[in-house]
Amino acid sequence: MEEDLEIEKNTGEAIAYGKKLYEKGLIDGASGNLSFRINDSFFITRTGVNLEQLAEDSFVRLEVKPYSIDEVKDAKASSDALVHAKIYLKTKYKAILHCHGVYNVVLSLTRDQINPLDLEGRLFLGNIKVLEGEFMTEKIAEKISDAIAKKGYAVAKGHGIYAAGNSFREAFNLLSYVEHSCQIIYLKELLMGR
Ligand SMILES: [Zn+2]
Repeated sequence: MEEDLEIEKNTGEAIAYGKKLYEKGLIDGASGNLSFRINDSFFITRTGVNLEQLAEDSFVRLEVKPYSIDEVKDAKASSDALVHAKIYLKTKYKAILHCHGVYNVVLSLTRDQINPLDLEGRLFLGNIKVLEGEFMTEKIAEKISDAIAKKGYAVAKGHGIYAAGNSFREAFNLLSYVEHSCQIIYLKELLMGR
C-alpha cells in the first residue's frame, strides 16, 4: 500500500479508537494518548488534544528513534512520545494506546502487583507488575517500554495503562482486559475483603 494511503487509513482508525476510549470511560479530559507506526515513522497525538475529538491534524509525525523530552515538547507531541518512541524501537508493534482506567489507577495505588482473578485476565495478562517512576522521565519510559516488549502492556503506578498491538484492535483488547481484571478485583474485594 502506498504510504499516503496507509497513513490515511490509520489516521481514520486512530480517530475511531480515540472515541472508543472515551465511550468506555477510560480517559478524562485531555488525558491519554495514542499512536501508530508507518515504516520508520510514527504518528502520535498532539499535546493537549481530547481523544474523543481527534481530527486529521491532531497528530505529529516523529521518527522511530530515541528522543529527549525537550525534542518531544518542541514537536508539540504528547509528552508520552518518549515512551512511544522507545516501544517502537524495541518491538514491531504498529499501534499504542494509553489511558487512565479508574479501577486500574486505584489498584495500582494499593499494591505492587495486580493478580487477575478472572479467566481471561489470567490467560491473556498473567500477573501485572505495577511500575513506579516519575512521569516524563527517561527512567519510567525505559521501564514501560521493557514491560511492553515482554507482555504487550504496562501499568504505571497512580497513572494508567499502556497497551500495544499489531493493530489498534489488538491494543484496545489488551487494554480492556487489564481494566476489566482490575474492576473484578476491586468489586470482589469490596464484597469479600482482600
Ligand atoms: Zn497518562
